[in-house]
Amino acid sequence: MNLSPAEIISTFPSLRTIVDAYGLMAKKSLGQNFLLDANIPDKIIRLSLQKQNKTDYAEDFVYEVGPGPGGLTRAVLAHNPKKLTVVEMDSRCISIMEDIKEKIGSRLEIISGDALQQNFAEKDSSPRHIVSNLPYNISVPLLLNWLKQIKAYQSLTLMFQKEVAERITAPTGSKNYGRISVLAQLCCKIDWLMDLNPECFTPPPKIWSAVLLFRTLAERPSPKQIKNIEFLTNLAFSQRRKMIRQSLKQITNLSEKLQKANIDETFRAEQISPEQYLTLACLL
Ligand code: SAM
Repeated sequence: MNLSPAEIISTFPSLRTIVDAYGLMAKKSLGQNFLLDANIPDKIIRLSLQKQNKTDYAEDFVYEVGPGPGGLTRAVLAHNPKKLTVVEMDSRCISIMEDIKEKIGSRLEIISGDALQQNFAEKDSSPRHIVSNLPYNISVPLLLNWLKQIKAYQSLTLMFQKEVAERITAPTGSKNYGRISVLAQLCCKIDWLMDLNPECFTPPPKIWSAVLLFRTLAERPSPKQIKNIEFLTNLAFSQRRKMIRQSLKQITNLSEKLQKANIDETFRAEQISPEQYLTLACLL
């Protein structure tokens, strides 16, 4: 009898049993805080699919960074992806994934290595989704890499430290508004899916976490525009307190360009909206 992935997963031992069986003590250096209550990853995937008006991943390729003991991995697999590719640096977690693969088969691909070295945009075909409870120390560089190739992805469902999630979603003019807010908001519609208190994790971190859903906008900046936006926001936000006519002074015909983009020369970096940065980026 052919069992569905969800039926196969329902026969797996609990995540806590797996952690004990593999002696998976969390390593701080790998940003390991595990979700061992399977209800939480299930809820994350359900909420994410619901927002996307989907019931499963049946036609889709999903990529997971850092599966750890496999809570999110199980939740994704239970929603029928065409293929789920996991990337993990910890050999103990790779063994756990190999055990899952033995039961689930070729629907699960395992890559042992550093997620920063992977380019999912070059693998498989659309639609692609990324799902991850991110290792916090590399969450922003990973997100930046994915945003630069955002056309390749339909959605990103990502858990961050709450403070990072607040920076990503910060409105123009707020104290948290910065480079990552500009780029993320120009590329994606971002929904705040849920907050998680430290007790949801083993071991509990010191901070709260939050899950964001990024859905790629039909009209998003081109790779060249993204490069220019990065150039501008680097200059502007590295001198946050300065007026924009000062921090961007190396740009030729700056006054004229600022006028065209409807940006007041006396504005500071955080007073300029993502759309105004994009307009200015198109004039470079
Ligand atoms: N997904 C699991 C969960 O929710 O319980 C584990 C999440 S834990 C916050 C982050 C995971 O990322 C760990 O399993 C860790 O080993 C892995 N990791 C850390 N750095 C990594 C890297 N550069 N590339 C791939 N995986 C990494």
